[in-house]
Amino acid sequence: MEPFACDTLPGRVVFGAGAARTALADEVARLGVSRILLIAAGGGESVARDLTAPLADRIAGTFTGVQPHVPVEVADAARKQAAEVAADAVLSVGGGSATGTAKAVALTTGLPVIAVPTTYAGSEVTPVWGLTEGERKTTGVDAVVLPRLVIYDPELTASLPGPLSAASGLNAMAHCVDAFWAPGRNPVSALAAAEAIRVLAAALPAVSRDGTNLDARSDLLYGAYLAGTAFAVTGSGLHHKICHVLGGRYGLPHAQTHAIMLPYVLAFNAPGAPEAARQIGQALGSEDPAAALQALAAQLGLPLGLRDIGLREADLAEAAQLIEPAVPADNPVPAGAGALQSLLRHAWAGDPAATAGAAAEVAPGTVPAEPVPAGAAQGAREAAVTAEVLASFGGADAPRYLEIMQSLVRHLHAFARDVRLTEPEWQQGIDFLTRSGHITDDRRQEFILLSDVLGLSMLTVAINAPASAGATESTVFGPFFVADAPEVPLGGDIAGAAKGRPCYVSGTVRGTAGEPLPGARIEVWESDEDGFYDVQYPDGRTGGRGWLRSAPDGGYWFWSVRPAPYPIPDDGPVGELLTAAGRGPMRPAHLHFKVDVPGYRTLITHIFAAGDQYLDRDAVFGVKDSLITDFAEHPPGPAPDGRLINAPWTSVTFDIVLASLPPAPQDPGI
Ligand code: NAD
Repeated sequence: MEPFACDTLPGRVVFGAGAARTALADEVARLGVSRILLIAAGGGESVARDLTAPLADRIAGTFTGVQPHVPVEVADAARKQAAEVAADAVLSVGGGSATGTAKAVALTTGLPVIAVPTTYAGSEVTPVWGLTEGERKTTGVDAVVLPRLVIYDPELTASLPGPLSAASGLNAMAHCVDAFWAPGRNPVSALAAAEAIRVLAAALPAVSRDGTNLDARSDLLYGAYLAGTAFAVTGSGLHHKICHVLGGRYGLPHAQTHAIMLPYVLAFNAPGAPEAARQIGQALGSEDPAAALQALAAQLGLPLGLRDIGLREADLAEAAQLIEPAVPADNPVPAGAGALQSLLRHAWAGDPAATAGAAAEVAPGTVPAEPVPAGAAQGAREAAVTAEVLASFGGADAPRYLEIMQSLVRHLHAFARDVRLTEPEWQQGIDFLTRSGHITDDRRQEFILLSDVLGLSMLTVAINAPASAGATESTVFGPFFVADAPEVPLGGDIAGAAKGRPCYVSGTVRGTAGEPLPGARIEVWESDEDGFYDVQYPDGRTGGRGWLRSAPDGGYWFWSVRPAPYPIPDDGPVGELLTAAGRGPMRPAHLHFKVDVPGYRTLITHIFAAGDQYLDRDAVFGVKDSLITDFAEHPPGPAPDGRLINAPWTSVTFDIVLASLPPAPQDPGI
C-alpha cells in the first residue's frame, strides 16, 4: 500500500425516506440550538416551512433570497438577517445554492450549519464554500462551513424535474471521477467514489425512466452523498477546474457543463492514470468508461456538446488559456493550452469521447489545426442507440447474464462504429449467419467451425484453462466430438470403421505432483487416413473414436489408426470466409483427447504429428509446441503389447498430466 494522507471529516448524517419529517426536530434538539435561521430556496419555501413546523419554536427567522452561486450581496443579506434574529444555527433546505448560502453565513459567523439537501449537489458534506462577485466566483475551504448535521430524505428530491435530476446526478458522478486524480486523492475516497459511480450509474437511468421511483431516488441520493464525501477530501481535479472556467467566464449551466465535459476529461486523463480508469470502468461495468459515461448522458437526454449549451467556437482558445494555470500540477497527463484546446474542441463538437484521449498527446503550447467534424450530433445519435439497448437489458435478474449481454452489445456496437458498417454489408452478415444456421444439423456444426476459424474457441480455451505449471496444455474442442462413443478395454482398438495404418497409442495419466491417476476416463477421437471423421461418413458407421479407463498405475494403451491432415468442412459459409481471406482450411494430423478425473481440471487437447506440413497454419489456431509428438513408424512385426502386426504400423507415446482443481470454497459462516 502506498503511503497516503486523508482528512476524515466530522458530521452526523441521517438518511431515509421521510427522515426530514420524522427525524429533523429530534436531531436539531440533540444539537441544543434554539434560534435557527432557516434558509429556503425560492420554490422550496413552503416545503421548508412544512418540514420545520415541528420545530417552529426554534425558528428565529427565514431567509428566502437564495440565488445561484451565492452572490456576495445575497451572502451579506443572509448574514445580516442572522445577526438581527440572534441566530445560533443556520438550517438550509434546498439545493447547492441554499446550502452555499448557509455556508456563507457560517464562514463569517461560525454558526453551525444544518443541511437538508433537495438535489444531488453534495455540497452538504464538504467544507468548500463559494461566493460570486460580479462575474468572478471565489471558492475556499474552511472546516467551519461543513454542516454538523445532514438529513438526507429522498422524498424531498421527488419533485426535482427529470432533466435537473439527470444533470445533478451526473454532477455527482463528476465529483467521483475527478476524485481519482484530484490533489487529495487517497484509497479511502477512491472506495467511496467507486461505490458512488456504481450506484449513480444504475440509479440515474431508473430515475430518468420514472421520477416517482423512490428506491431509485434513494440510491441516487446515497450516491450523491458518497460522491460529496469523496470530493470533500480530494478537492478539485482537472475536470472541476475546466468546468469552473466554463461556468464562471462563459455562463454555461453548471450541471450540464459537468455532464458534457466528464467523459472527455476521463478519456484525456486515462492514459496517464490507467489504474483509476480501470477502477472507474469496473464501477461502470465497462472497459471503455469514457464511452459509457457519454452513453449514459445521451441516455438521460442531456446535451453532449458544449456548443449545444451556448459556448462559441471562437471562445475555445481563450478558455484553454484560462484553464491552463489552474490545472493541478500532478494531473496524470500534461495539460498545456494546446492539449486543453484540443480537448475542449472535441467536447464542443460532441465528438465520441475517445477522441479526447488523443488530445493528451498534443505537445503543450501547440494548437492543433484539426477540422471540426461536420456531424457533431452524429456521435450523440450513435451513442444514444447503444445506451438505449444497454438499458433494455437492465431488468435482467441474473447478474452474469446482464454482464455478458451488455458487454456483447457494447462491443458489437463499437465494431459497427469502428468499420462504419453499411447496410448492405450487414445484410451480407445476416445472410452469412442464416446460411450457417441452415447448414447446421446434428452432424455438421457450422457455428463451432466459425468460432474456431475466428480464434474465439482458442481464446476461450486460453481464458478457461490458465497455464498450470507442469500440466498438459489444452486446445480446441472442435466440432467432431460425439457424446456416446463406444467404450473399449485397455489395449482395445478404437479404429472401428476408420481405415488407416495401425497406430499404437500409450502413456500415463498423472497429476502435477507425479501421482498416478487410475481410472481416468480417456475419450479419443480422430480422422481416418483420408482425413474424415466418422460423422462425415454417409452411412452412419462409427470409427476412430472410443473411450477407456487408465490402469491402476495410471497407464493406458490402445490401438487406433494414424491420423491424417484434413480440411475442416469448407463447402459452407465458413469455407467462403476462409477463401475470401486467402486462408486454407487444413488442420495438421492430430488425435483428440478429453481426460476426466474427479478433483482434477478436465483436459481437452490434441496431440499433433511432428513434421506435419500444416503445423504452422492450422485453420483453427489449435497447435501448441508442447503438443507436437513423434509418431514413430515401424515395419511389420511384434508390437509392444505382444500383438503381431503384419503391415507397417505406427506408435506414439503421450504422457498426460492433469492440474488439480482448487478445493471448493468453504462457507465462511458469517
Ligand atoms: P440549485 O440549488 O441552484 O438548484 C437548482 C434548481 O433546482 C433551483 O431552481 C432550485 O430551486 C431547484 N430545486 C432544488 N431542489 C428542488 C426540488 N427538490 N424540486 C424541485 N426543484 C428543486 O443547484 P444545485 O444543482 O443543487 O447546486 C449547484 C450549486 O451548488 C452550484 O452553485 C455549485 O457551485 C454548488 N456546489 C457546491 C459544492 C461545494 O462543495 N461547495 C458542491 C457541489 C455544488
